[in-house]
Amino acid sequence: LDFANYKEALDLIEKSRYILIITHVNPDADSISSALALSNLFFENRIKHKVFNVSSDLPQNLDFINRFDKITDQLPKFYDLAISVDCGTIKRLGFELPSDIPLINIDHHKSNDDFGTINIVDSNRSSTAEIVYDFFKFNGLYITKHSATALYTGIYDDSLRFSIARCDEMTFEKANFLVKCGANPSFIANKLLRRDSLAKYRVIPKVLNSLELFDEGKIAFIKAEPLWLKQTGAHVRDCEDALDMIMSMAIVKIAVFLRVVNNEIRVSARSKGEIDVSKPISKFGGGGHTNAAGCTLETTNLEEAKNMVLKEILETR
Ligand code: 5GP
Ligand code: MN
Ligand code: MN
Repeated sequence: LDFANYKEALDLIEKSRYILIITHVNPDADSISSALALSNLFFENRIKHKVFNVSSDLPQNLDFINRFDKITDQLPKFYDLAISVDCGTIKRLGFELPSDIPLINIDHHKSNDDFGTINIVDSNRSSTAEIVYDFFKFNGLYITKHSATALYTGIYDDSLRFSIARCDEMTFEKANFLVKCGANPSFIANKLLRRDSLAKYRVIPKVLNSLELFDEGKIAFIKAEPLWLKQTGAHVRDCEDALDMIMSMAIVKIAVFLRVVNNEIRVSARSKGEIDVSKPISKFGGGGHTNAAGCTLETTNLEEAKNMVLKEILETR
């Protein structure tokens, strides 16, 4: 990792007239938080910019982060610099960035192939928010309460609440400093974890009930049928916690969650320990980390999708 990149990135930011901060498709807390930490920094320093996501369907439980309501799905007419956050591949931007626009690629996916003009990529970090934190610190930039809240949220969520293997002493050091800067851990945890809809608890039992086990229970599959979402009024995002629950079973080593989104099937896969689930998932054009990966399949047939993914997992074991 070259620390000069952080300075170079700041130089480019200061030279630019209008900056587009890009969060990844199906955005999560890490991507949104990293973007909003930068957005607050830019706003406070009168740097013209927009935070963009290709969809307007954002995780609303992040609405407590300052400037969340400013995120847009409309590309500005003019911008002369792009910054992607938490995008493991250029496809994750969700649109074709014009080739004459310089791109600062800030990310922590090991699959990241340095697609940017400047690349600040460190796959040893728990979250992209940790790397954005380094961007502030290495450049001597003041972290306000708003940026601290954003960065703490990204670290907390993407480290699976400080539990993944890549969550190390540096992660805790950063979290500690962010709390000093005004991030409030219990406020953030309550905002993320204590505002679920009733519909979520109507749909989760259906999702859990779809559990199928393979390979002596080592491999688990669950799904969300579109009908169940209609019946309960739940958002497809409400089903995601079921995957965590399945992973908590002692026998399960790999778990896969399948659901229909926009006439395709979104696949989320998780694994324990040394098992690299990003390997079979990358066969379908997806990617991610050793223990968490995802892809999209061009079908709406959940049974067919299950068979395809199961076959690949069994073959890459
Ligand atoms: P999730 O299952 O939570 O959507 O994603 C798990 C991990 O895999 C995340 O780190 C995410 O960035 C990555 N991921 C999910 N979907 C895709 C995808 O379609 N392509 C790539 N390259 N990575 C993905
Ligand atoms: Mn992400
Ligand atoms: Mn991330």
